[in-house]
Amino acid sequence: MSEKITFTEGKLQVPDYPVIPFIEGDGVGPEIWQSAQTIFDKAIEKAYGDKRRVEWKQVLAGGKAFDQTGSWMPDETMTAFKDYLVGIKGPLTTPIGGGIRSLNVALRQELDLFVCLRPVRWFKGVETPVKHPEKVNMTIFRENTEDIYAGIEWLEGTDDAKKLYKFLHEEMGVTKVRFPETSSFGIKPVSIDGSERLVRAAIEYAIAQKAPSITLVHKGNIMKFTEGGFKQWGYALAEREFGDKLFTMNQYDQLKKAQGAEAADKALQAAKAAGKIIVKDVITDAFLQNTLLKPEDYSVIATMNLNGDYISDQLAAMVGGIGIAPGANINYATGHAIFEATHGTAPDIAGEDKANPSSLLLSGAMMFDYLGWFEVGKLISQAMEKLFQKRHATVDLARFMPEGVALPTSQFTEEMVAHL
Ligand code: NAD
Repeated sequence: MSEKITFTEGKLQVPDYPVIPFIEGDGVGPEIWQSAQTIFDKAIEKAYGDKRRVEWKQVLAGGKAFDQTGSWMPDETMTAFKDYLVGIKGPLTTPIGGGIRSLNVALRQELDLFVCLRPVRWFKGVETPVKHPEKVNMTIFRENTEDIYAGIEWLEGTDDAKKLYKFLHEEMGVTKVRFPETSSFGIKPVSIDGSERLVRAAIEYAIAQKAPSITLVHKGNIMKFTEGGFKQWGYALAEREFGDKLFTMNQYDQLKKAQGAEAADKALQAAKAAGKIIVKDVITDAFLQNTLLKPEDYSVIATMNLNGDYISDQLAAMVGGIGIAPGANINYATGHAIFEATHGTAPDIAGEDKANPSSLLLSGAMMFDYLGWFEVGKLISQAMEKLFQKRHATVDLARFMPEGVALPTSQFTEEMVAHL
């Protein structure tokens, strides 16, 4: 008998036969979903025999939903993700015009999925633009609900833009708008609550994974109250709630001021020797340089929405994995989570049996980890490792591999199943 996943006392309760809603997605979505579901089911069977099984429940969104129901995001879909807590999705066509900016954003906002989780690692065999991709092993916690990205903006020339400027100029004394007549405006809300819940999730993850460090990435040198606030509130939360498990560079700086560099260095070394997590911060531009120069210095990353967007794609590109990067959007306070392929619908190759299902597969592996079915996630990523090491991949990756063998999606799926 299949049952719902529930969330009690801050923990996910996963039955042996859970119901998991999925959106197969548009474009290449149906092909990669079919591949992924086959591999998921086989991996579960391999790990647990018939003791565990997922009942996949299809829900509609995107172009397929619009064609069948006249709505891009039917209410039943939203309700299913709310009720069943954990779901997975393929890529969705973004509607052009109309009231919805993006279906993905709608889902994130409605379920308050405040963490966008993007792990980045290299798979042996995958060609990359950097010399040492094996040094890149980071997990990005990107804040998902705030920042300039929240979409609070007004178009130049509109009455609303004029009204906002009038308020800024006359009531707030703002004189820095260079071209007031032709300026569009955007608002960047960054809160203590929003920053704290994101940093808390990153710290809890780092503790569970025994990660060496957490880095707060921000532009607080320029945007002092928003990005600077994120850094300051992040450090304060770390010290207040997790003081016995970590050491912050804020503490280091204070010690240095009070007792000198030697005492601060000593405290840092002692914290490292005691296995404490080091919490540090870095300005975004320096971070992007450092990821190329010394990626081994970074492990768990906590950052705001817009920075996180850029960082996720840069890091994914460094390991050659922009097309296979997995992602998830999670609310750790309610348990709600949606795992997703991070690429688009690839309309240029849809229906041609060429699409790479790896992003959806690795997102699925993350989902099984989230459910505590670690054996399944491991089987999936190990099978993928074996295939890439043999230089077997779909054409998007195989074409860059020396002597790479390009497989159609269907054959890649068969080989994945054979290597589980
Ligand atoms: P895209 O990611 O669909 O395609 C960019 C390029 O990457 C194309 O050449 C495509 O063939 C290739 N590609 C993408 N996924 C692939 C895969 N799995 N296997 C092999 N090759 C792959 O980006 P786009 O063309 O800018 O967007 C197309 C549509 O997807 C748009 O409607 C866009 O809004 C939407 N989109 C959705 C999501 C999402 O749902 N998460 C993300 C990005 C874009």
